[in-house]
Amino acid sequence: MYDYDVLCIGAGSGGCASAMRSADLGKKVGLVEYRRNGTGGTCVTRGCIPTKVLLQSARVYSEVLDAKKYGVVVPEARLDLKAVHQKKSAAVAGLKFGLDNMLIKPRGIARISGKAKLIDNHSVEITDGDKVSVITAENIIIATGSEPALVPAFNIDHKRIITSDEALNLMEIPKEMIVIGAGALGLEFGFLFSTFGSKVTIVEMMPHVVPTMKDDEMAGVISGYLENTGIKFKCGSAISKISVTGNERVLCELENGGKLETDMVLVAIGRSLNTKGIGLEEVGVELDQKGQVVVDDQLRTTVPNIFAVGDITKGPQLSHKAQKQGLVVAEVIAGSDVRMSYDVIPSAIFIHPEIAMVGITADDAKDEGIETIVGKMQFSSNEKAMAMQKTAGMIKVTARADNHKIIGGHIFGEDASVLIEEIAIAIQKGLTLEDIADSIHAHPTLSEIVMETCKNALGKAFHK
Ligand SMILES: Cc1cc2nc3c(=O)[nH]c(=O)nc-3n(C[C@H](O)[C@H](O)[C@H](O)COP(=O)(O)OP(=O)(O)OC[C@H]3O[C@@H](n4cnc5c(N)ncnc54)[C@H](O)[C@@H]3O)c2cc1C
Repeated sequence: MYDYDVLCIGAGSGGCASAMRSADLGKKVGLVEYRRNGTGGTCVTRGCIPTKVLLQSARVYSEVLDAKKYGVVVPEARLDLKAVHQKKSAAVAGLKFGLDNMLIKPRGIARISGKAKLIDNHSVEITDGDKVSVITAENIIIATGSEPALVPAFNIDHKRIITSDEALNLMEIPKEMIVIGAGALGLEFGFLFSTFGSKVTIVEMMPHVVPTMKDDEMAGVISGYLENTGIKFKCGSAISKISVTGNERVLCELENGGKLETDMVLVAIGRSLNTKGIGLEEVGVELDQKGQVVVDDQLRTTVPNIFAVGDITKGPQLSHKAQKQGLVVAEVIAGSDVRMSYDVIPSAIFIHPEIAMVGITADDAKDEGIETIVGKMQFSSNEKAMAMQKTAGMIKVTARADNHKIIGGHIFGEDASVLIEEIAIAIQKGLTLEDIADSIHAHPTLSEIVMETCKNALGKAFHK
């Protein structure tokens, strides 16, 4: 009766995950994307993957500059920015090729090129250049994602006042750069351009870096470390206006009356949601005050056969959240009574060393009236970190005082993005400090620090 059982709008993290799982569950699936070469969405083409390729080059570059530390003599280290960008493009192209040809095509998912707009709850208009067609579907999944927010007062000209989209393709490193925002994007780009030779100042409105992490001590350790690498921070400073000056410099005016001048400003805050102009409200899909699509815990919108996933819905704007929602929605459409939970979503910031977090901090717990015990260790206490000469950073594990169930983990240190998963699984499965403290961890490994931190919370660690 309908052209498709399931039509996914947007081929990003959420759209691809829901399309693939729906196809695996026997549904006839269509996947609409308007960007040429857009498979993978923000994550693959303009987000997670290109940033991580660039950050890997930054990491190798700084390791080579530091090679003496490991007894390795390197005569000359030089950054070949053109080659770095070529590696990035190749990685992105490879991933897109894999997605298109190894994951989407073999599943029989129909690729539909064009911009989608809902006409009614089963019909979608597709505009591809001059061509306009209408396709129908029993169920529709909106996964249109987000774009960099173009804050009017920041006068983003995409040349000297730029967003993450342009930052990924800079062929010249500015001498000086101001990055607005000390969240994941701001820290990653700030770290990247600082390593590539820019004098970077990161301006953050909130009192400390990583504002989503309520832990002053941890934030202080992170900013202290980064300051030692040459990055400057201006926390607690809000920028009210940005403009290009007559001499091709960029002027940032602060709310407190202060002024900062630089060569380039990267606005690394705010994403605008792709929820406008696609017929959502016209067909009865409700948006909240932030413009997010209102969904229940099965990702159903206020129109029962229309679902939404990813950045346009509640929860953190992260690829793995979008992917999980995509899996849940596919199962729901196929008849399973599964639900999306937002309680345990780890996140990571891929500077070097990395930052990773999951669950809540002791300060968050205090606000919720929960008494906690906290284990804490420095990476300098871990033998593997010492062997690797990667001793910067610390880890905290937070548990309920009454039953020792783990409720949070916050790490700044080598391979934090990997280490955090042990704590994430512990929270998900209701494990206690004793569960991890009593599990034998291989020696010498960085993972021993998670075990030692749990022992520390119980007063049983070698390092007090
Ligand atoms: C610089 C940067 C770095 C990031 N790093 C990380 C990271 O390390 N880890 C992480 O988890 N997350 C990261 N993210 C966030 C992550 O990329 C997003 O959370 C994720 O891509 C959201 O997936 P999505 O499916 O909601 O939307 P998107 O990936 O944005 O995909 C939406 C797709 O829909 C298409 N579309 C929009 N409207 C229409 C329409 N009307 N018709 C047809 N197609 C349409 C768009 O072209 C797009 O391809 C990063 C983001 C940025 C910007």
